[in-house]
Amino acid sequence: MKRRFHINKQHIHPEWAFEFHAHECPFMPIGYRMGKLALEYLGAEKEADHGFFVFPELGEGHPQTCMMDGMQIATGATYGKVLMAMTFYGKLAATFYHPQKGAVRYSLLPDFVDAMGKFEFFVYRKKGIEPSHIPLNVRREVIQWMYDQPDEAVFKVEAKPDFTYKPVKGSFNKTKCSVCGEYVFDRYLRMKDGQPVCIPCSGYEKSVLIER
Ligand SMILES: [Zn+2]
Ligand SMILES: [Zn+2]
Repeated sequence: MKRRFHINKQHIHPEWAFEFHAHECPFMPIGYRMGKLALEYLGAEKEADHGFFVFPELGEGHPQTCMMDGMQIATGATYGKVLMAMTFYGKLAATFYHPQKGAVRYSLLPDFVDAMGKFEFFVYRKKGIEPSHIPLNVRREVIQWMYDQPDEAVFKVEAKPDFTYKPVKGSFNKTKCSVCGEYVFDRYLRMKDGQPVCIPCSGYEKSVLIER
């Protein structure tokens, strides 16, 4: 199959990555490239099971969050396998962690971000126009430019020798909620009037615990 983008780097996203992401934009490929480089740096493979973790520092409400789909596609550390947890720092960076091989943080260099921001793509984005409504040649122009930049012009790379993360211990134990009758995994079980209940039936405030 003919590649849509000519490249001098090998870290180009597979065609299906845009299918999954559902629009062509520059940030999914940047995240993909970052994820591939992090795997290479750590000497790790795309994660088949549950042994590689990504902690993106992106927040919400800024367009670069598309990077996280690229990171998942490259590393196999997906949201659905609970291998990705956002820190919501609102930064263009992520830490990649393999329990045996260590951790590395990749961030986008400010000069790269500034240069990229001059492309016509962002004129549209700043008007609130969604990527899929931006002319394709405008989108591909900035994607091609990104691929033309050498790694060292795009990314800052930092070893994180002290980084640790303990994933929760897996368990199949589940109990039926005494109110709604639905199954709830025991780690999320609450007690109400001496009976096991799920969180929504407990009347407690919903709390989301992200352990890292
Ligand atoms: Zn996108
Ligand atoms: Zn319930």
